[in-house]
Amino acid sequence: MEDGESQDPVERGPGRRVAPTRLSDVGDGEGHPGCLNPPSSQLDERLTGVDPAVRPLVAEAAKLLGRQAMAAADVENARAAVDPPQHAPDAGLRAVARRRERDRQVLIECAIDAQQRVANRRPHEGILPPMSRQAWLEARRTTPETLEAAQAALAEVRDGVEVTRALRRHPLPRGGYLGKHHLVHAYHAGVQSGAWTADPALLRRLRMKPIRTLSGVTTVTVLTKPYPCPGKCVFCPTDVRMPKSYLPDEPGAARALENEFDPFRQTASRLEALQAIGHPTDKIELLILGGTWSAYRRSYQTWFVQRCLDAMNGFDSADLAQAQLANEQAARRNVGLVIETRPDHVSPDEVRRLRSLGVTKVQLGAQSLDDSILALNQRGHTVADLRRAMSLLRRVGFKLVLHWMPNLLGASLASDRLDFARLFDDEALRPDELKIYPCQLLANAELHQVWLRGEYVPYSTKDLVELLADIKPTIPAYCRVNRVIRDIPSTHVVEGNRRTSLRQDVQSELARRGTPCRCIRCREIRQAHADAEEVVLDDLVYRAGAGEEHFLSLTTKDGALAAYARLSLPAEEAPLAELQRAALLRELHVVGPSLEFGRGLAGAPQHRGLGARLLAQAEAIAGERGYPRLAVISALGTRAYYGRRGYSLEGTYMVRNLPVGEPPDPG
Ligand code: SF4
Repeated sequence: MEDGESQDPVERGPGRRVAPTRLSDVGDGEGHPGCLNPPSSQLDERLTGVDPAVRPLVAEAAKLLGRQAMAAADVENARAAVDPPQHAPDAGLRAVARRRERDRQVLIECAIDAQQRVANRRPHEGILPPMSRQAWLEARRTTPETLEAAQAALAEVRDGVEVTRALRRHPLPRGGYLGKHHLVHAYHAGVQSGAWTADPALLRRLRMKPIRTLSGVTTVTVLTKPYPCPGKCVFCPTDVRMPKSYLPDEPGAARALENEFDPFRQTASRLEALQAIGHPTDKIELLILGGTWSAYRRSYQTWFVQRCLDAMNGFDSADLAQAQLANEQAARRNVGLVIETRPDHVSPDEVRRLRSLGVTKVQLGAQSLDDSILALNQRGHTVADLRRAMSLLRRVGFKLVLHWMPNLLGASLASDRLDFARLFDDEALRPDELKIYPCQLLANAELHQVWLRGEYVPYSTKDLVELLADIKPTIPAYCRVNRVIRDIPSTHVVEGNRRTSLRQDVQSELARRGTPCRCIRCREIRQAHADAEEVVLDDLVYRAGAGEEHFLSLTTKDGALAAYARLSLPAEEAPLAELQRAALLRELHVVGPSLEFGRGLAGAPQHRGLGARLLAQAEAIAGERGYPRLAVISALGTRAYYGRRGYSLEGTYMVRNLPVGEPPDPG
């Protein structure tokens, strides 16, 4: 089959017109934040409730902004001049502060919409070559000649010839060589037509960038539209074309920009690209990035998630509920949904909201565990806020990722070492995953001005490597370090570390010192062999929040991690009725190469009963400790798995009654 002829609507991807492609088509009455051409009544809607003295000014400003396409970020940056005292001791003054803050938000939103409405001008214009997707498709076009050559090369690979050698033996008729993606295409075409039997081991040999799916799932990253963030962090870059804190040429951000932040197009094109290079796309962890998720309007959030699911499901749903239901049995299932937000935006109402959207994992910006550093960097929240947020999120079963940022304004190498230790010493924190983002000095962040005044000094690469090599071995075995550096192109960094390959530098330093890191990522099995009969079960127990955590793991005799689960035994009631008297399974994860549903691969951990073994262990522990029910924060795509094991849907959780034991022991 030629590229572009697929009958799968998802594979047809961005070229396909779908409805509702814009939030405005949904007509939910909450405004139209996804729409490039919002109705004129929108401004009136927004002005409802705005201080009457300010209304004409906002309307006038919106018109002016529309004519000049003024950057929303410029409006936001002008806030310093009008910001009222948010923490004034006088209650009247604080009320004024709240009102003005709302007015400012209205003005910023108007600016964003206005600039998007300016004729023939998209927010991303001039950043990416307009034909980049076309070029991508062209590079992957498969003609009858290339398909024939690819089939011949593929047959040789199947017979044991090394992939590169097989590619060399079949040059293209007009010069040049086949790419691996041609072999992947020939493989899928052969399997679909019935000429070839599905062979996961063969596909694995063809796969490009295998690391992408070696943690057991396929991650698809999407970005929300440009929108202001309630935060004012001095280190955070502002670019009017992007959601707060993102730069247009970061890898994931560039893809979002190319797709004009359309959730359907972003998801569909990413799936298409991953499939083209040989990755399975049936178990998808959806990672939604972009500023502060909780600050976006709810109608936009709902629409965004719905359209991502539509891209996985391959059809346009009428509403989120329909998209969610369809995804439970779809060929491409959502097995995890991740958002990022601020600690001070987490409330009982917000966690209910996140669950209704299907969120299973929350990333929180902690950045520092020192209130004076947080204040100096204008984070706008305290460590107490973070503790409260973590406790609440853990109590309802979310997996928890913290962002931690060394080299903040006011920090030193010594204070960062102490600060990092608090992440795990403090029972209220103890994250499941960690993203370490060393502060990077960028020209479009307020910190740049501080640096120009000589009041901030970025760490050198050497200092950073030493710091990270010191702290990594202290990370408990229950935590996964997802990143040690952010993927910001080095050209943006004004001074300080520019190496984006810092992880390798740190790993080399750890090897030199002989002090390995024991975090989950460093122990994951990847492509190593796992004998399901020989893996060893371990139960790492620790206190966290107001409860007890069991990190259950299955490891090979060489210490490689094949599977793990997170069981929470809470000591406090949850704010959700369906979780009353329930222990919580927050995660069940079999690592190694992600395999398609129902397919096995010799030596790979998935689909060998390891997950079922951990689940049985979690049930046994919860039952012994007197919890009459176990609730799983199951993603849409894993509900069927739990359903087959006696669980049923209660609210948004899969729940099973356990044999009644002693009453829960909070201690
Ligand atoms: S909260 Fe996050 S996105 Fe918002 S300004 Fe601070 S760092 Fe940037």
